[in-house]
Amino acid sequence: MFDSNANGAVQVGEVVGTPVMWRLYDGLPSGVCVADGDGTILYANPHLHRILGYEPGTLVGLSASEFDCDELAAMALPGVQSRECRYRRRDGAWMWVVEAVTETDGPTGEPVRLLTVTDVSRHHRVEAVLRDQLLMKEVLFETLPVPVFLKDAEGRYVDCNDAFERFTGLPRQRLIERTAFAVMDRRVASAHAAMDQDLVVNWGQRTYEESVPVSDGTLKPARISKAAFCNSEGQLGGIVGVIHDLSKGMPDEAKLQTILEQSPIGVSVSRRSDGIIIFANTRFAELIAMPRDRVIGSHARDYYVDEQQRSRVLERLRTSGSVVNMEVQFKRADGCPFWTLFTVNQAVIQGVQVNLAWIYDYTERRNMEEALREMASKDPLTGIYNRRSFMEMARQQLARANRFQEPMSVMVLDVDHFKHVNDSYGHATGDDALRLVAGACTSVLREYDLLGRLGGEEFVIALPGTTPDEGVVVAERVRRHLSRMPIPGPAVRFHLTASIGIACIDSAMDTLEKAIHRADLALYRAKREGRNRVCVYQPGL
Ligand code: GH3
Ligand code: MG
Ligand code: MG
Repeated sequence: MFDSNANGAVQVGEVVGTPVMWRLYDGLPSGVCVADGDGTILYANPHLHRILGYEPGTLVGLSASEFDCDELAAMALPGVQSRECRYRRRDGAWMWVVEAVTETDGPTGEPVRLLTVTDVSRHHRVEAVLRDQLLMKEVLFETLPVPVFLKDAEGRYVDCNDAFERFTGLPRQRLIERTAFAVMDRRVASAHAAMDQDLVVNWGQRTYEESVPVSDGTLKPARISKAAFCNSEGQLGGIVGVIHDLSKGMPDEAKLQTILEQSPIGVSVSRRSDGIIIFANTRFAELIAMPRDRVIGSHARDYYVDEQQRSRVLERLRTSGSVVNMEVQFKRADGCPFWTLFTVNQAVIQGVQVNLAWIYDYTERRNMEEALREMASKDPLTGIYNRRSFMEMARQQLARANRFQEPMSVMVLDVDHFKHVNDSYGHATGDDALRLVAGACTSVLREYDLLGRLGGEEFVIALPGTTPDEGVVVAERVRRHLSRMPIPGPAVRFHLTASIGIACIDSAMDTLEKAIHRADLALYRAKREGRNRVCVYQPGL
């Protein structure tokens, strides 16, 4: 068996230099070394020279301690006389090897040690990388703030992280090797198990919403994402699951979109740089009476009715950054205006500066409010101001007259013998007559004169910018007009007359109430003097 090597260079029985039997190791892809009892190297094959970085043949004669095995790092390997240890290369660098030692006899019968050395540095490096990766994954798994768990293909828990323990209140040891049925309510467990079964059969990933038991013993809504993973043999290794707590989390984008869509309030988003609407919900499009795809891309400016209102909105946005419940009128696509309560906030969405606008259709409420205001301020029979609102308006006129030092007169008008009208023609005709009197007065007076019903058949008129003399002219005109006005009775038409008292505002210290009282005194005089006449108040009346 020692006849020759492949090229016939080794001869049987060669004893000078390297014994033939050792030269058989020359071609081995592992390092081989033979050392005598003192550790002097008698033979080292080319591969050992190569891996240790020595010139061919230069190891012979050196001590085996030359490559200085790092005893501290050495690890005995089970089974054979071998160990994993570090050798120092000629250049001083350490390398990992598996070293096997065999005690045997040399060519002359002396005891020698045969060392086979396998370079395992590459495996070591790969192993170290793998170990690091595993360590990193372990740390990642444990420190993830979301609960994560692993199950095997039979649905038994294999592992879970700290966040899972905290969230569910289940310590690992109570969980591992158990199925969901052992740790939660049967209905909930069935739901989770059904999803596991689906994954076992169909693989892939699933996300579903289901309650999970939590640390305080209750159930919490959660979204669970599960994925099947395969083992190194390509078979189903198990299932990894992640729990998203839905009890306090933000609703997801799709839900927010649905909420926006169902909002009874119109919502739009416009770019601040150019005012172009980049989002509008259904309600907004409904309010504007335009298809949504046409609203988007249009200019927010186009929907204002009043340019001044728009300036006010922009000014408020500039100064305080938002507009809250401002009454603003917008128009529909056909130009028809409608009132809104308008709220705008500035925001940055995906890096774009925008105005977020909420439009609440206020038309109906505004109309109702206006009707209520009208009802509260007007006399229901005649439609002119009632006493309270007349006084309010007239006081404003008086303040204005005082400010501009203008005269102002007041007249009190009382229908003559009105009791007789009721008695003769009935109350309904009396009502008609009162309405006609109010209408007649309105038609004779100027736009800025104020007419109110003091009560019964008594009216009051404020004449801003009017001296008592000028007031007499107006009063005469009213009196004449009334006396000539035919009033339809149940059978025939009839006429009525009225008496009028006038007083003027004396000074800036004077009050409306005092002036009306003086006009009343003048009215009594008119009555006393025969009715159907105008009397101006004079002191001493
Ligand atoms: P005078 O010339 O002195 O003012 O006589 P008069 O009858 O007009 O005065 P009086 O104050 O005695 O009567 C007022 C009447 O007006 C009495 C009341 O029945 C009537 N009257 C008051 N309010 C209404 C109303 O809303 N509708 C009708 N039809 N009549 C009213
Ligand atoms: Mg009267
Ligand atoms: Mg009266």
